[in-house]
Amino acid sequence: MRGVVMYGPGDVRVEEREVPQVVAPTDAILKVVASCICGSDLWPYRGADATTEPTPMGHEYVGIVEAVGADVKNVTVGDFVVGSFFASDNTCEICRSGYQTHCVQRQPGAATGAQSEYLRVPLADGTLVATPGMPDADLVPSLLAASDVLGTGWFAAVAAEVGPGKTVAVVGDGAVGLLGVLAAKQLGAERIIAMSRHADRQALAREFGATDIVTERRDEGVARVKELTGGLGAHSTIEAVGTQESMMQAIRATRAGGHVGYVGVSHDVSLPGDELFFSGVHLHGGPAPVRRFLPELIDLIWTRQIDPGKVFDLTLPLDQAADGYRAMDERRAIKVLLQP
Ligand SMILES: [Zn+2]
Repeated sequence: MRGVVMYGPGDVRVEEREVPQVVAPTDAILKVVASCICGSDLWPYRGADATTEPTPMGHEYVGIVEAVGADVKNVTVGDFVVGSFFASDNTCEICRSGYQTHCVQRQPGAATGAQSEYLRVPLADGTLVATPGMPDADLVPSLLAASDVLGTGWFAAVAAEVGPGKTVAVVGDGAVGLLGVLAAKQLGAERIIAMSRHADRQALAREFGATDIVTERRDEGVARVKELTGGLGAHSTIEAVGTQESMMQAIRATRAGGHVGYVGVSHDVSLPGDELFFSGVHLHGGPAPVRRFLPELIDLIWTRQIDPGKVFDLTLPLDQAADGYRAMDERRAIKVLLQP
């Protein structure tokens, strides 16, 4: 089968790889219907994360179950399924508390290699959720979004305690930030301030529910958010980038007693203790327990109440994955869907 392999910065190739097989009795093998390129795939692509050996890429996927191990009970061959990027049993105490990305059995990167024709998913019963039936083709991008970027934006909004009557600021205009806007809207936010300097992303943010756009960054961006909130800052801020600058921007844009939900993968972020101490801001985040939200998100998509698939503004055949990485790296595309 064909699959995407990263060799180093700027060097991704589509290669012939071995078709995965059931290894453990809790495994499922999927025929991938669609996968995509993640903003986090750009960290190694840009050399910010080292690639020490050729690495199969991709952790966002929807597919049809092709085979299951002897212990798998919740999904069967032929099911259309959405999975999350960390395999989890969904039964341990940590999972039951809603933190499946920290499952005691979790297998980080277990679904690595999703940018391919077939995929092995460990702990299939805990990791995969079947849709009510075969989806219409136009629902596939939205279901794919649920497997990471929607689930992650949703978690960020929940972690930021978004709710009715609240003002939400969103730092980051990638797919996760934009879907954080959508989540904030669904969760009842009264006002949503999207921080973005790109016209196309501003337009999508507005479509997803943003009421205000702030184009300034750093301290100027913080000052604009304060201006829009009577000098106080947002109640809830979603941080969807992962840099020192974006994290400080998020903390400083939040009012005392407010909440920051941070989901951008942290890169060299170091928080000054004295500023944190005097900010009075709650911080919560990390790798999103997407699995917690999948049943609810699938239902919202299935009943066409939300259309998160709009973040995919470029669809390419798997063979052209390298063009997709380039387009996202150069910010010509928000998010690239790959069709095997
Ligand atoms: Zn668990």
